[in-house]
Amino acid sequence: MAYPDTYYARTLTDRKTRPPLKGEARCDVAVVGAGLAGLTTALQLARAGLHVVVLEAQVVGFGASGRNGGFVTPGFATGGDTIAARVGGEAARDLHRLSIEGMDFVRDTIEALGISAAQPRAGLLSVLRYDGGDALKAYADQMARDHGYELQYLRGEDVRAVLKSARYHQGLRDPNAFHIHPLNYLRCLADEIERLGGKIHESSEVVQCDLSGPQKMLRTSQGTLRAPQIVLATGGYTGPVFGQLYRAFLPIATYVMVSEAAPRLIAQAVATTDAVGDNRRAGDYYRLVESGNRLLWGGRITTRAASADALARELRREMVGTYPQLAGLKTELAWSGLMSYARHLMPQIGELQSGVWYCTAFGGHGLNTTAIAGKIVAEGILGASDRYRQFAPFGLSWAGGAGGLAAAQLTYWKLQAQDWWRERRATTKDKVTA
Ligand SMILES: Cc1cc2nc3c(=O)[nH]c(=O)nc-3n(C[C@H](O)[C@H](O)[C@H](O)COP(=O)(O)OP(=O)(O)OC[C@H]3O[C@@H](n4cnc5c(N)ncnc54)[C@H](O)[C@@H]3O)c2cc1C
Repeated sequence: MAYPDTYYARTLTDRKTRPPLKGEARCDVAVVGAGLAGLTTALQLARAGLHVVVLEAQVVGFGASGRNGGFVTPGFATGGDTIAARVGGEAARDLHRLSIEGMDFVRDTIEALGISAAQPRAGLLSVLRYDGGDALKAYADQMARDHGYELQYLRGEDVRAVLKSARYHQGLRDPNAFHIHPLNYLRCLADEIERLGGKIHESSEVVQCDLSGPQKMLRTSQGTLRAPQIVLATGGYTGPVFGQLYRAFLPIATYVMVSEAAPRLIAQAVATTDAVGDNRRAGDYYRLVESGNRLLWGGRITTRAASADALARELRREMVGTYPQLAGLKTELAWSGLMSYARHLMPQIGELQSGVWYCTAFGGHGLNTTAIAGKIVAEGILGASDRYRQFAPFGLSWAGGAGGLAAAQLTYWKLQAQDWWRERRATTKDKVTA
């Protein structure tokens, strides 16, 4: 098994491979899926002294966790107001605090394990594509009031001093958020799990399971694993073998490209080492990599498989629309990955039945949420806390199958149209007042 051709796979710092499961094995906890969710859970359990075994269909970080933008930020795939409408203001604030804890977990783990290959770099700049500074200030005030979380407000001219685009207005800088090389981070988690006595088997797709009874059984093409506790962390790659989970999520594709090495040209557009995201739903996000040598740019979602090349052309159109000075910047590589979304857009975390845990549906906001999920599912298994119950209001409801995917695509197009209309109105207003 091999990685898809991504920038991260090309810049891996270790090439270790792991053998498939063979024959009969037993452990305290079996984890299915070696993405961020599965490996964070396994790490926490191994740290507590349990014997964990991870089964991965392909290679460590083959899924979304090894292909993403690398933005580690607080929050969830849906907004605080929507969450509060479902669970109430106080519970929504508690959930947001967990999301900050998830971000901190990644930072602390990088520090504690000395994962320099993750190349952590502080700073996230969220920018508006229409004039709306008052709403940003109100949001920053709310974060400071509710969480003691400081965000720095930037006026339009301050934003445009570092992001040389006429499209941008005001922004908020989050100095606590950061960005990383996600695949190097993940592979170092895998090493640490093994150092603590855990086992990770690649090329070990679970093709059959029996989750009833006190000992659960997972079967791969060459082996069988039995454990009293199992964790399903198969993300957007979940197959029908895990029926209830399979019916409860929508696989949504998203896209990233990386430019050729052209530091001087790129510096004419992006003069910050912060990660950058615009305010649209599924808007653009980008960051410099290799100390400004290349630009990594992501965006767009689709519910049907689209060729990465076609989407790279769309991403390029977006990039050049934002930065006409980058028209000559060549794309070196583009790739896609599948995210797992629930209809409610929140993670699905909990215990399906005694000893069967699920940890999935992190959407496009998985770097902090997989971390907190892994931490609280491990706490649940260890009997150390029942914090996982905070996610109980967002259960495993049916995602709607093909109809659900069609509805998701329509919703995305509707949101895109709203974003376009909002920007157009702002641009027209700018012209009238100019
Ligand atoms: C292109 C892209 C950009 C993104 N950018 C960001 C970002 O900048 N910031 C952010 O916070 N989030 C981002 N995300 C989202 C984030 O990457 C995901 O939410 C997160 O990585 C999900 O982790 P996971 O462990 O749940 O799933 P995955 O990483 O997909 O892992 C699931 C694993 O399970 C394995 N598996 C599936 N079925 C089986 C089976 N039967 N047996 C054994 N193994 C199995 C798969 O092979 C896979 O390796 C992005 C996602 C994508 C695709």
